[in-house]
Amino acid sequence: MVREGLDLRICNARVRRGGDRLVDIAIEGGRIAAIGEGVGASARDTIDAEGGLVTESFVNPHLHLCKVWTLPMMNEAALAAYHGADMGKALAAIDLASAIKSKYDASWIVPNARRATALAALHGVLHIRAFADVDSKARLEGVKALIAVREEFRGIVDIQVVAFAQDGIVKEAGAARLMEEAMALGADVVGGIPWIEFTDDDARAHIAFCFDLAAKHDADVSMLLDDAGDPSLRTLEMFAIETLRRGWRGRALAHHCRAMALYPPPYLQRLSGVLRKAEISVVTDPHTGPLHARVRDLIEEGINVCLGQDDISDAYYPFGRNNMLEVAFLAAHLLWMTGRDDIERLYDMATIAPAKAMNVPNHALAVGAEANLVVLGEPDVVEALRFHAAPRHVVSRGRQIDLAQMRALAGATDRATGNLSSNSATSLRPRRVAGALAERQSGAGDPAPSV
Ligand SMILES: [Zn+2]
Repeated sequence: MVREGLDLRICNARVRRGGDRLVDIAIEGGRIAAIGEGVGASARDTIDAEGGLVTESFVNPHLHLCKVWTLPMMNEAALAAYHGADMGKALAAIDLASAIKSKYDASWIVPNARRATALAALHGVLHIRAFADVDSKARLEGVKALIAVREEFRGIVDIQVVAFAQDGIVKEAGAARLMEEAMALGADVVGGIPWIEFTDDDARAHIAFCFDLAAKHDADVSMLLDDAGDPSLRTLEMFAIETLRRGWRGRALAHHCRAMALYPPPYLQRLSGVLRKAEISVVTDPHTGPLHARVRDLIEEGINVCLGQDDISDAYYPFGRNNMLEVAFLAAHLLWMTGRDDIERLYDMATIAPAKAMNVPNHALAVGAEANLVVLGEPDVVEALRFHAAPRHVVSRGRQIDLAQMRALAGATDRATGNLSSNSATSLRPRRVAGALAERQSGAGDPAPSV
């Protein structure tokens, strides 16, 4: 069937589990109109995939976007504490890392976050759940900055801003009021970290506060849970039970859960039953800490597990570039998921699994779905992970992203992104892009500002 008047056609595309068959993907009105041989021949614009793999775009469900490129602004004491001593000093690391926040100011957070978001676009990551610290030091500077960048990239990269009580709610004076203000300002998701409170009762109060606030704003909840090498930590269980009690099934997302590595198997099995019932997804970031959630066990128990970038050059991790293929490549080694089925699973954990976790509807290479797609230079997922190169083309809401423009915003070179594509005049660009580029050229957008 030849469809007339289509906006975009991707031809010679290889699809996952499709063997050597090459297909066309026709796009109309921002959605996938048809997939098959010879569809979309009359489209206004064509991308030749040249036999490369085409899939739904990547999704990053966990990024501390207010902290990107802050590592050069501080010493490495927090990094050493977080990664050393079997994560027994994780709490001390959070205290050390909080020093940076007395300098928090949206004026330098915005260019850093913009650079990280442009890198996301270059790597085909079109949905991000982005955490902004909310506490007496950070105040609302991180939230304001991330909301500004969310609006700049709207329609290109979707950012869900999490108001995140990084330093606690019960033990941090004024945090509750600031969290309420952050949600009123326009944050999308309520974020907590109950395990850092002083007592289990305080942790329960922290969780209850977050669910109350989420109910008030009809928002999802994301929490960093049991992020230390202490097998007695139980806030994941508290979180799951509260999710059930509040009827917030499918709207509560658990992050890190590193203590799970030390849980005795019978307890993990019982806990998995509660997670499944509460429809809680788990985000793991095995490259940013020496312990990690038990991914294989969770998957066997039917839990939706996904990968996150977590950090980019901050107090907790020195690398990162918003490249989910790179995250999957690292996870393949750290989780020993190296069989072909494992690698397919890892690809899902960077695409459809986090989309489900973040409640991004119908994120798939399927007729009727929003056309958020990557055109890779490699023919299959094994090769894609091997090179973890940037896509040759990225399509967001049915339109090609202007990758040259994104490279300029990210301060990236062709070598850094491995990008080979050229871009059409109709390519997508973020709002106020000219201003942002001028800012960069004048030096105001340097990634490591002195503040
Ligand atoms: Zn994190």
